[in-house]
Amino acid sequence: MNEKNAKSNVNSLAIFNGHPKFKEKLHVGRPNIGDRVRLLNRINDILDRRWLTNNGIYLEEFEQRLCEQLGVKHCIVMCNGTVALEIAIRAADLKGEVILPSFTFIATAHALQWQEITPVFCDIDPQSHTINPWQIESLITPRTTGILAVHLWGNACDIESISKIARKHHLKLLFDAAHAFGCSYKGQMIGNFGDAEVFSFHATKFFNSFEGGAVATNNDELASKIRLMRNFGFSGYDQVDYIGTNGKMSEISAAMGLTGLESLESFIQLNRKNYNQYADELSDIKGLRLFSYKTSEKCNYQYVILEIDEELSGLSRDTLMSILWAENVLARRYFYPGSHRMEPYRSYFPHAGLLLGETEKLSQRILVLPTGASVTSPEISEICQVIRISLSNSREINQRLREKESKVSLVGS
Ligand SMILES: *Cc1c(COP(=O)(O)O)cnc(C)c1O
Repeated sequence: MNEKNAKSNVNSLAIFNGHPKFKEKLHVGRPNIGDRVRLLNRINDILDRRWLTNNGIYLEEFEQRLCEQLGVKHCIVMCNGTVALEIAIRAADLKGEVILPSFTFIATAHALQWQEITPVFCDIDPQSHTINPWQIESLITPRTTGILAVHLWGNACDIESISKIARKHHLKLLFDAAHAFGCSYKGQMIGNFGDAEVFSFHATKFFNSFEGGAVATNNDELASKIRLMRNFGFSGYDQVDYIGTNGKMSEISAAMGLTGLESLESFIQLNRKNYNQYADELSDIKGLRLFSYKTSEKCNYQYVILEIDEELSGLSRDTLMSILWAENVLARRYFYPGSHRMEPYRSYFPHAGLLLGETEKLSQRILVLPTGASVTSPEISEICQVIRISLSNSREINQRLREKESKVSLVGS
């Protein structure tokens, strides 16, 4: 090992005197790429055939493979997950108000607001990090037309309770399943629940088609409406039946998706191995919780989620993040500070936070660590070592950071 950047005590941390542990930056969500030769063969074939988009053979094959994989009747692939969400929302006839969690990627709320539907933010359950069904009912008004729940981190939300509420109040039910490709709920694959579920195959998701997304549904009527809306509403050469948009996926993206599907199990296995190593090496640190997945369900293990309780650990999430960044470990604060604190929602609903206590708390605590093909097992050990040194010396670290800051302000003044 390189002695210069060995991490053994506070002094060796790069945020103080040490050299960064890693020469190259380690990112969360570096893309997984399947078998390159198979991908390039497919791309060559696309170029030879000069069929680049609009229901090409690769798109049709990709949709069919996805249906088989998920055990669902229809899977309509799109140019990205956000447009897939927008089209699903429109096809399901949502309007007025829709209830969703604030603790999600901003696209969930934007997909509604973009169509002038009011997102009504609901709090989350602190254990599962998913929407709290018991608060949903209190947010229903005469203008509410649906619920848009999120399977955060690939962990299914409480589908059973949410479905009951939706049925009781005659609300449409959609799921943002952008994190949950390859995951199950009570033994059935995500993609089969509610009126429709929406996936993202963006490059940063563990399974990607460069950019891409899909709507999965078992509802024939909804599926054909979504297909029309994906392609400007065209039902024939000169016939338009609906208002539509352009949500089409290109052949090259479908080729990437098909190639990735062939490696899906190995992507998941690698994620699981990384996850288990993090879990082993971080298991006994006070004030730290690693988000755990239900072992009874299928899961893609694409996120390694740390929850830092500052009162117990003595170190804030943001301080730990600065320490890791100094080592070139680009850990991320998903989904900080919560959708309700971002524009335009912050201006529309300045007091939304009052009903979102758990969201406010959790968004101060979460740190996402690098996984997937971008980290090796020795690198994970090094990351865990930095975290261990940091949390077991929190008092000294806070003290030295305060000194550093006051020096800076003296120089400044
Ligand atoms: C990634 C993501 C989206 C958006 O998907 P894109 O394919 O990037 O448009 C929507 N919701 C959640 C929860 C996401 O993580």
